[in-house]
Amino acid sequence: MAPVEWLCELCTEILLDPVTLPCCGESFCQECLRQWTITKLEDGAQRPRCPAGCGKKIDYRLPQTSKVLRQLLESSHSAEIAERRGEAEDVTPLLGGFEAWQEVAAARDIVVGDQVYVSFGTSGVVLCNHETTHVKVKFDSVLHGTGTLNVFPAQLMPQLPRSRSACGSEQRALQIGEAVVAALNLTTGEPPVVAVPFGTPGTIVGAAVEGRIEVLFTSSSGPKRLNVQRFEIETAGELLGGFRMAQQVKACRDIYAEAILLVESGTLGQVLGEYSDTRLVVRFERRMDGSEQAVNLGPGEIEFDRKAMQQRAMTCAAISGVCAAGSALVTQPFDVVKTRMQIHCMVTSDAKSGYRYFKVARVGKTFRETMAMAGWRGLWVGSMARVVQMGLSGLLIGPLFEYAELLSNDADRPLRHPLILGEDPGRTIVHPRSTRDMFIEVKTG
Ligand SMILES: [Zn+2]
Ligand SMILES: [Zn+2]
Repeated sequence: MAPVEWLCELCTEILLDPVTLPCCGESFCQECLRQWTITKLEDGAQRPRCPAGCGKKIDYRLPQTSKVLRQLLESSHSAEIAERRGEAEDVTPLLGGFEAWQEVAAARDIVVGDQVYVSFGTSGVVLCNHETTHVKVKFDSVLHGTGTLNVFPAQLMPQLPRSRSACGSEQRALQIGEAVVAALNLTTGEPPVVAVPFGTPGTIVGAAVEGRIEVLFTSSSGPKRLNVQRFEIETAGELLGGFRMAQQVKACRDIYAEAILLVESGTLGQVLGEYSDTRLVVRFERRMDGSEQAVNLGPGEIEFDRKAMQQRAMTCAAISGVCAAGSALVTQPFDVVKTRMQIHCMVTSDAKSGYRYFKVARVGKTFRETMAMAGWRGLWVGSMARVVQMGLSGLLIGPLFEYAELLSNDADRPLRHPLILGEDPGRTIVHPRSTRDMFIEVKTG
């Protein structure tokens, strides 16, 4: 007989697959804890309380079994463990091929009566079978009820598998139902058209072919459903330092890579994402070393500056307005001369001889005539109206050029090869650019 501290308080037998709770450090059999959790959730609790009696609520996503403790028990009490395992053998498998405590999501809206209890994409864990047709699921968020529902296996889909980034490291697993944003401009069709601009928010709604993720984006032109790759989306919400994806920022100090000045203080840029746990990726409008690549930097090196962005648009409009007005003023004499030449009486007739003479207006002569008639000021007759008109159109055209520049900068970025998928090509992303790693430059120091 095993010592009392190796017994599960719930079944008073030796611990089988022990799980240690973080609240008070007590261990229980995995199966006992699962049964405890199911009972408490069925009773209507949002979260079960610790069965050791410490009074704290525990997560229904139970901790993993304690490997060392299990090995210790299996080597020291192998006979008792083997006996318990033998008893546990004949457990019926879950319907739909699910495993107990598997992460799932609602594959459709789950309706009870005429009310939606769980909306499509909500995440949850499978608890156990319910009768012969249903499985019991604890959903993370529900519109009605406590979150524990008996559903048909077909109403569930397994959660997304873990994925690996381009450089091979494992990325944080995304969940169906999770809020994300587009990590770059997502294009569709041939020729590629930007369907979902960088920074557009969306929700993961499922897994798609070839490890792709199905996302419902809420763009300004309405909802768009696209299959994307892991690197094409980022988790929504605040990045390091409270910045957001696609946010306009300003360098608040000179940014150096070793001794080389990369970005001058005050340069505007856009946040492209997180580079690591401590650094962000920012593309600046101008780099002092002439490179176009984005820079990774600490969140303390940039600041959000709405005023600067507004000033930039105003400055741009003002400069173009002044330039247009100035050029109108400078070219005014030519306009006067041109108009005079246009209304010049070309035909004269000689009453004596009966011949008609054609006189063609000359630029130099018209200039001199105008000067003789009205002096220098005559060349600028009507200039005020023209300067005002040109100045105003300049105000409008300046920002238009600015916009065209942004578009052309965007078009400059490398395009990725389209990936052809069999069914429904309209929903396939034609990769707009290479992986993000391509335009990140690692900065040290
Ligand atoms: Zn037990
Ligand atoms: Zn406890």
